[in-house]
Amino acid sequence: MYLTQPLHRNVQLQPDAIATICGDRSFTFAEMCSQVASLAGGVRELGVESGDRVAILSLNSDRYMHMIVAVAWADAVIVPVNTRWSTKEIAYSLVEADVRVLVVDDAFSELVGELRSQCPDLDTVVHCGDGATPAGMVSYAQIAGAEPIPDARRGGDELAGIFYTGGTTGFPKGVMLSHRNLFASAMGSAASGAWSTRGRVLHVAPMFHLADLASTIGHMLLGGTHVIIPGFDPVATMTAIAEQGVTDVLLVPTMIQMTVDHPRLGDFDLSGLQVLMYGASPISEALLERARSAFPSARFLQAYGMTELSPVATLLTDDDHRDPVRRRSAGQAAPQSLVKIFDLDGNEVPRGDFGEIVVSGEHVMLGYWKKPDETAGAVRDGWMHTGDGGIMDDAGYVFVADRIKDMIISGGENVYSIEVENVIAKHPSVLQCAVIGVPDDQWGERVHAVVSLKPGATLSLDELREHSKAEIAGYKVPRSLEIVEAFPMSGAGKILKRELRKATV
Ligand code: ATP
Ligand code: MG
Repeated sequence: MYLTQPLHRNVQLQPDAIATICGDRSFTFAEMCSQVASLAGGVRELGVESGDRVAILSLNSDRYMHMIVAVAWADAVIVPVNTRWSTKEIAYSLVEADVRVLVVDDAFSELVGELRSQCPDLDTVVHCGDGATPAGMVSYAQIAGAEPIPDARRGGDELAGIFYTGGTTGFPKGVMLSHRNLFASAMGSAASGAWSTRGRVLHVAPMFHLADLASTIGHMLLGGTHVIIPGFDPVATMTAIAEQGVTDVLLVPTMIQMTVDHPRLGDFDLSGLQVLMYGASPISEALLERARSAFPSARFLQAYGMTELSPVATLLTDDDHRDPVRRRSAGQAAPQSLVKIFDLDGNEVPRGDFGEIVVSGEHVMLGYWKKPDETAGAVRDGWMHTGDGGIMDDAGYVFVADRIKDMIISGGENVYSIEVENVIAKHPSVLQCAVIGVPDDQWGERVHAVVSLKPGATLSLDELREHSKAEIAGYKVPRSLEIVEAFPMSGAGKILKRELRKATV
């Protein structure tokens, strides 16, 4: 498989169907294909050679999507840059990935001077924004107007991109994924039968995050139209769903929460939405319930995975969401994936026992870029050690308990923060919550709840303890409570527990 293949297929089967819509621009598959061929020629004219890295630092746009495909067409490797990083972090990743060509949009043009001074090997910056091209940058029109070149058909085990992890637990690592890796995951999700065929998929999750690319590839395979907005915003998302005939959307739980709690939720007709896929971090049952009533027409599909798995490992189907126990899991192994639970010695544990979730299949990464030791630690005998703790039941449903690093050991008992968070989230005053372990003289670690409240609501530790005691064992009940206005979040919308811990210690 190669990244450009679904584009060629769509050109053959439905050349005049719409491939991408972004603002007032739209491209048919035939138009996208010729645009991509020219862009690839333009990229080559910049001196990019086979296997060279081309980075992109941009909000979501059709140009972002076209560029990803064009870079593969040109036999090069894409490096999507996290738009939420500091300039220093961006520069670090550009240097680490030996990037000589960077594509930026208007939102990031002004960082370029600083990036050039921190990245001596950065030769060329292409401006893909709608505004005027700043001095010293190559215009998008120039490369889009270049002589088209034949498709290199870069594919199979060749490197497709370097995708940085979310940076939730520490400094992000560059994950090397091949075309085969990306297709294994995308085809697995598509084979689950959950997505719409020739639907309209809305891209609001950041394109630098692999989840969005996986949905791009999957919907390219299914011949869908891509509706692209610059980034997540609840009103823009609801407007797009209501007005652009969107059938499928991928959201992370934080985005779902901001949408279903939005005061204007009732103003939009969201009944055209057929598929709501979500994942990337745990979702509380309370939020899931609110989401299902806000989007009654949508089939829900949860994915659990990680960048290192291109990214999908398990899927929870819509039917599973109707089962009161199974809906608390992340579902069963996705079609391309084999999932087991290992103990510390690498032996599979009996069903129902806790251990580390490990995954094998063609979607397991080639390795971490320039980090052979970390790669050897993570992928052993073909099994990706996820660092996530969980349990598998007799029917193969995987219950993600916690990141092993986040597990709390209080008075010698293991506490899985997700279980406690689920209970806290059910409290009517609670908007969002996170549970962390903090050092405690008596208990080793104590269960500490950090909570943000709904407008006008209040919550005391006693109330929270009373509420929790009804559902979970005493040692899991939070011993301390902190109310916050907002949570520190990663670029992918995950709560940064390491920041919460720093603030508490
Ligand atoms: P870093 O590896 O840099 O710390 P990260 O792990 O957040 O960042 P990603 O690869 O984007 O980077 O995220 C993968 C992780 O997200 C998984 O290991 C898991 O902890 C969490 N995750 C993903 N999907 C789910 C899900 N459906 N339920 C619970 N947790 C999930
Ligand atoms: Mg990770």
